[in-house]
Amino acid sequence: MFQNIIDLIYPVRCPVCGEIVIPKGNRICEPCKRKLQYIREPRCKKCSKPIELEESEFCSDCQRKDYHFTKGYSVWVYDDVMKRSIADFKYHKKKEYALFYVEELLRIYGEAILQYAPDVIMPIPIHNSKFRQRGYNQAELIANMVGKELNIKVISDLLVRNRKTIPQKQLSDKERLRNLKKAFEFNGTVAEKHGKVINKLLIVDDIFTTGSTIEACANVLKSNGINDICFITLCIGKNF
Ligand SMILES: [Zn+2]
Ligand SMILES: [Zn+2]
Repeated sequence: MFQNIIDLIYPVRCPVCGEIVIPKGNRICEPCKRKLQYIREPRCKKCSKPIELEESEFCSDCQRKDYHFTKGYSVWVYDDVMKRSIADFKYHKKKEYALFYVEELLRIYGEAILQYAPDVIMPIPIHNSKFRQRGYNQAELIANMVGKELNIKVISDLLVRNRKTIPQKQLSDKERLRNLKKAFEFNGTVAEKHGKVINKLLIVDDIFTTGSTIEACANVLKSNGINDICFITLCIGKNF
């Protein structure tokens, strides 16, 4: 009953085309859903990026780099369709898109997350100035919904983003890491406050492109005694 009234006032908007979704009760138009590229095999055994068949078990990045995370999952390929959707979600206040994103994330990877059984879920933090500008941290929205649904504790301030970074787009791989390494600081008091021994942690973010942000966080977490770090993101780039 109340849901009907809410739907009447705020009809569900499609995360792809932005139009009102018909029929009622769906979160995305059927034709729009068919445009999404769900991650399938063959994918990298470590970061889950789609790979070409001829490649080995791992993508070229995971072969080359010694990432600090154990494994990762993503729901969709970060193609033009998802780029637009995520941009609206992040910068144009389309928070409601999270409902569709998380529904799909849990439908496909909920079981895998439960099996991994992280002690804590942690969204990638954003800098305070960005938070003020946007009014929310998109990764935190996702993390909170996932944590609530799977009954896993979410700690959002375990890492603090302590300085602004140069926009990553302008930088090379190596510069990105250097740029990011000092950007995250471990908040020991928060970990203590929760009185939780954290051995396994699941990082949540919206996108994994070069992986440098997640790698920088995993690096800091690991040097603070958290041994096993996995991630889940909505989207990931392709390796070819
Ligand atoms: Zn649509
Ligand atoms: Zn990989």
